[in-house]
Amino acid sequence: MRVRYITRLSRLAGLSEDERRRLEPVTERYAFRMNSYYESLIDWDDPDDPLRRLVVPDASELRPWGQLDASHEARYTPVRGCQHKYRDTALLLVNEVCGAYCRYCFRKRLFMNDNDDAALDTRAGVAYIRAHPEVTNVLITGGDPLMLSTRRLTLLVEELATLPHVRIIRIGTKMTAFNPHRVRDDPDLLALPARVRAHGAQLYLMNHFDHPNELTDVAKETLGLLQRAGAQTVNQCPLVRGVNDDPAALTRLFRELSYIGCPQYYLFQGRPTAGNAPFELPIVAGYAIFDEATRPLSGLAKRARFAMSHHTGKIEILSVDSRFIYMKYHRAHRVRDIGQPLIARRDEEARWLDELELVAGPPAAAAAAKGFTPRSDWMPAPTWDGLKPSDPVCS
Ligand code: SF4
Repeated sequence: MRVRYITRLSRLAGLSEDERRRLEPVTERYAFRMNSYYESLIDWDDPDDPLRRLVVPDASELRPWGQLDASHEARYTPVRGCQHKYRDTALLLVNEVCGAYCRYCFRKRLFMNDNDDAALDTRAGVAYIRAHPEVTNVLITGGDPLMLSTRRLTLLVEELATLPHVRIIRIGTKMTAFNPHRVRDDPDLLALPARVRAHGAQLYLMNHFDHPNELTDVAKETLGLLQRAGAQTVNQCPLVRGVNDDPAALTRLFRELSYIGCPQYYLFQGRPTAGNAPFELPIVAGYAIFDEATRPLSGLAKRARFAMSHHTGKIEILSVDSRFIYMKYHRAHRVRDIGQPLIARRDEEARWLDELELVAGPPAAAAAAKGFTPRSDWMPAPTWDGLKPSDPVCS
């Protein structure tokens, strides 16, 4: 099937003239792109259609808020286009374009003219990975790697697969949601998992479905083809106001993904990225949605973790009670922080770790949190049921 790209609001038949005029200034700052397949999934009579909200600009994106590189990715970039934050995992940012643009994207800086964080030429990145035998996982991302030609992607994937220490190659993509035909109709792409396996490695497709309306018959068929071709398929997405902040929709998404062998892996708290103010939710509200959404699910369907991809590490939000927010470092840049608990005072407004008042947690997190000066390597826990102030909760 031929899918047409749409890069101007004037080509979107579903928008009124007045909406176009109002939204044009947003697209001058933050790029707009979608395609005819995704356009066909939207109910244009419904101004609150979740997929419409995902791709159509919002006037309040221009509200000053957040940073372009909210996760400080530049800090973890040893060579252009290659990030190395966690010991065993490296990222290659291989392009600056996607099948459409999510309005809430945390890497929207890549789509701006003066940005060179991604590298089409991956030689320096691959050389870095070759020289770092501790890297067992490589995530190919961008932009969307499936916007590359299959020939180019195959060359890169095979080169990585021949490195003896690289055991898992992940492709981070929203193409199975934005344009599944790109995968379904490409036998060479579907041959890639077997080529990786021939080198003793595994290929994971890290899909990005945000809402059950994206799980169309063709999307599900495509995931089935990938699985039969030998790829592992999982899903991750952020929690986005107006897109998937409805617990019933998230329940349907997680449940359906478990039925088709593509389980949810992370649900991310939105990063404080410039332009993303209209899509953000407070941590407390986000946790309540996640908790309600996962309660009715089977164990297999609720394996997802609700996490903040903070610049110090991936912080899982475990629970919220009337006084505190309980978290844990699921992944951390500093190895000694992995598994460390963090406790913050409940704050109905806070949307990111940096806005919380931490009462316990490792110093890296404490340094980032509001109004908190780390005094030593651990802080005493507050008093709450079952734990005395003298019990160390982190060290
Ligand atoms: S697919 Fe990913 S990288 Fe591309 S716009 Fe969406 S969130 Fe950003």
